[in-house]
Amino acid sequence: MPLFDPESIRSDFPVLAKLIYLDNAATSLSPRQVIEAQVTAEYHYRANVGRGIHRLSRMATHQYQEARETLGRFLGGEKGTLAFTKNTTEAANIVARGIHWNKTDRIITILQDHHSNLLPWYRLKNDHLIDGIDVVDSTAGTVSAEDIESCITKNTRLIALGHASNVFGTIAPAKEIAEICKDKNILLHLDGAQTAPHLPLNLEQIGCDYFAFSGHKMLGPMGTGGLWISPDVTGDDVPAPLCTGGGMVQSVSGTTFTTVSGPGRYEAGTPNVPGAIGLAEAARYLTNIGMKNVADHSAALARRMIRGLAEIPGVRVYTPEDAPLIGTVSFTVDNVHPHEVAYFLDEAAGIMVRSGEHCCQPLMHALCLTGGTVRASAYCYNTRDDIDMLIATTEEIAGMVK
Ligand code: PMP
Repeated sequence: MPLFDPESIRSDFPVLAKLIYLDNAATSLSPRQVIEAQVTAEYHYRANVGRGIHRLSRMATHQYQEARETLGRFLGGEKGTLAFTKNTTEAANIVARGIHWNKTDRIITILQDHHSNLLPWYRLKNDHLIDGIDVVDSTAGTVSAEDIESCITKNTRLIALGHASNVFGTIAPAKEIAEICKDKNILLHLDGAQTAPHLPLNLEQIGCDYFAFSGHKMLGPMGTGGLWISPDVTGDDVPAPLCTGGGMVQSVSGTTFTTVSGPGRYEAGTPNVPGAIGLAEAARYLTNIGMKNVADHSAALARRMIRGLAEIPGVRVYTPEDAPLIGTVSFTVDNVHPHEVAYFLDEAAGIMVRSGEHCCQPLMHALCLTGGTVRASAYCYNTRDDIDMLIATTEEIAGMVK
């Protein structure tokens, strides 16, 4: 008997009546509750936050602060600083551009990671702000604490680690890596774009310094996300704000200014207030399902995919079955371009998957996959029937080119 029955929530996602959605690693769907929370905010308390004295402004400010607290609890990081951002990408850029670097600093990145967790750090090297980047090989689909430890040098200042791969769907041993980092006085930036949606998190227990995530991958609105900064981060390791302007300022005198302390200093200008409120509703929705249930359900569907797809002649599966997994599996069909596979899955069976390089060109080059892979990614509302339909239709495709 499964712990969690996706049928109990599917009616909150009306589009699922018409198709099979397996592109959750790119963007998840939003349930009615998240959309309604935003609509309510728009209708009933659309106002700027932290600035006005009138009733609507006070209501919006209260809801916005509550949203921040809800997200802090959801991530197990109530003591840290949680700034709202547009997405994971912006959060990584705040850290990369905001830390005071020394010319001798080196950064470790992982080959399999998303461009959003590579380019912000590569740019530091290109701008001659740091000494260089050490890249951990992860072509087999996993990365271990030992792999990372062997790349550490005396000048390693920060490790930028994808908490889960958006190509392989494998989860990195973040806590173990954080322990090494603490030991060696190295900063750990976790790209949580793929784990915030799937795992019960406790950032304080994991022990990372920075955690970046996106709302649209965890049932929340597009253009929302956050950067969490550990309370242990101090001095030059506290990022300076990327943007300056209204809302983040304490005082301006002549041409000098001081910024507010806390998350507001990273939120210059008018923030996406209904978005933050919708994102908090998504966190509440996931909490009600239970993140342990979500994690177990997604991993079980991933293993079902791997087993079913691997049995089809001509299909290569890149996700290792024995690793800790979120719901994502990458595969190819011999002699069929991944885009053609994705197109056929949609045309023949209404299955939405992603195909191509998944913003991971260095990994795709290392694997010599010029067309990339097909990536099917399951979430809390997917069923075993969805997976079986994916497997059956892929078998049809592979059969056509034999
Ligand atoms: N990191 C990972 C692992 C991702 O999967 C993604 C999105 N595919 C990103 C970063 C970037 O997320 P966003 O576009 O929301 O900034």
